[in-house]
Amino acid sequence: MAGRNHLYIPGPTNVPQAVLNAMNVAMEDHRSPIFPNLMKPLLADLKKIFKTEAGQAFIFPATGTAGWEVALTNTLSPGDKVLIYRFGQFAHLWATMAKRLGLEVEIHEVPWGMGIPVDKLEARLKEDTAHEIKAVLATHNETSTGVTSDIGAVRKAMDAANHSALLFVDGVSSVASIDFRMDEWGVDGAISGSQKGFMMPAGGAFLAFSQKALKATETAKFPRFFLDLTDQMNSNKDGYTPYTPSIPILYGLRAALDLLLAEGLENVYARHHRLAEGTRRAVAAWGLSICAQAGFESDTVTAVVVPADKDARDVISTAFTKYNISLGGGLSEVAGKVFRIGHIGDMNDVSMLGAIAGVEMALLDNGIAITAGSGVGAALDYYRATAK
Ligand code: PLP
Repeated sequence: MAGRNHLYIPGPTNVPQAVLNAMNVAMEDHRSPIFPNLMKPLLADLKKIFKTEAGQAFIFPATGTAGWEVALTNTLSPGDKVLIYRFGQFAHLWATMAKRLGLEVEIHEVPWGMGIPVDKLEARLKEDTAHEIKAVLATHNETSTGVTSDIGAVRKAMDAANHSALLFVDGVSSVASIDFRMDEWGVDGAISGSQKGFMMPAGGAFLAFSQKALKATETAKFPRFFLDLTDQMNSNKDGYTPYTPSIPILYGLRAALDLLLAEGLENVYARHHRLAEGTRRAVAAWGLSICAQAGFESDTVTAVVVPADKDARDVISTAFTKYNISLGGGLSEVAGKVFRIGHIGDMNDVSMLGAIAGVEMALLDNGIAITAGSGVGAALDYYRATAK
């Protein structure tokens, strides 16, 4: 089909031309004396994205899933207890990983569409006077339901309970797109990946750990090699890596960091908020609802609920085959019930309006009773009124 296929999925996201160009490089010697000139500033600038000065940033040639494993295996030991709220597919997968690794996983079920219930967390941690819970696993932005939890409030709940557990945060679909403050929120392990807010292909796990988490590596008994933080630290201090890095990912990251820092993180967050708000207004104008309950709406992805007699997979399929746009599908519990519009990464008002127009056509084609142009109209009114 002529024209571009537009990615309106919540990752991988559209890669800016500057990042594509930067990745198109010849391979180079990663043991050369000049390699640290690339590596050291990358690690320093990554800390700015996580908003940490006290912590340390890491780059693994891997994806977000590896980031979960880095956090668990480098700081904990088999049989340790971790607590997680399950309210979506990614929280579910993280809990499954923790179980498979041999951790004792305390899972609290939360209806999909809600986020972390901080009052309940505080009460549970207060009960745990022996501090048996060694880590709280928090999914900041649950990509499957379009739900954002309040990590600052999670930290407050942990402090109110005077609890010593580590706080690990999955920021795969929030870091570099939604407000994230590692030091201020007392995050011990922040996990992200290259293919969402960083606007790159998959293949980079970008992580940051607090000094408390790094101290825990000294006693953690899980076996680890490829994902070992100590090996990274030993090499990174001189600007090298313990094994062959992905050179294109590193150059892509350089370009992505330059773009993000030039725009300014607060502007990046504000842009994502505007794009998301326009999308939500479009959904309301269609007379449809979103999966996220009030107060939990994500600024990077909106999961739109289709009428009960319709299958969201048909909408996604029509959007792809007839209009050449990619929407996200519903995962697991919400399969067929929702489709997801990603508004993350290299997007602006007009690209978002393209997504909304494409969705409208696919909804109408599938007999979903909306008024043609209603969503586009609502979004463009909002974008015009708030454009600078
Ligand atoms: N966590 C969240 C919130 C995600 O959205 C994803 C992927 O979409 C992951 C973890 C897994 O990351 P990856 O697919 O990069 O391994």
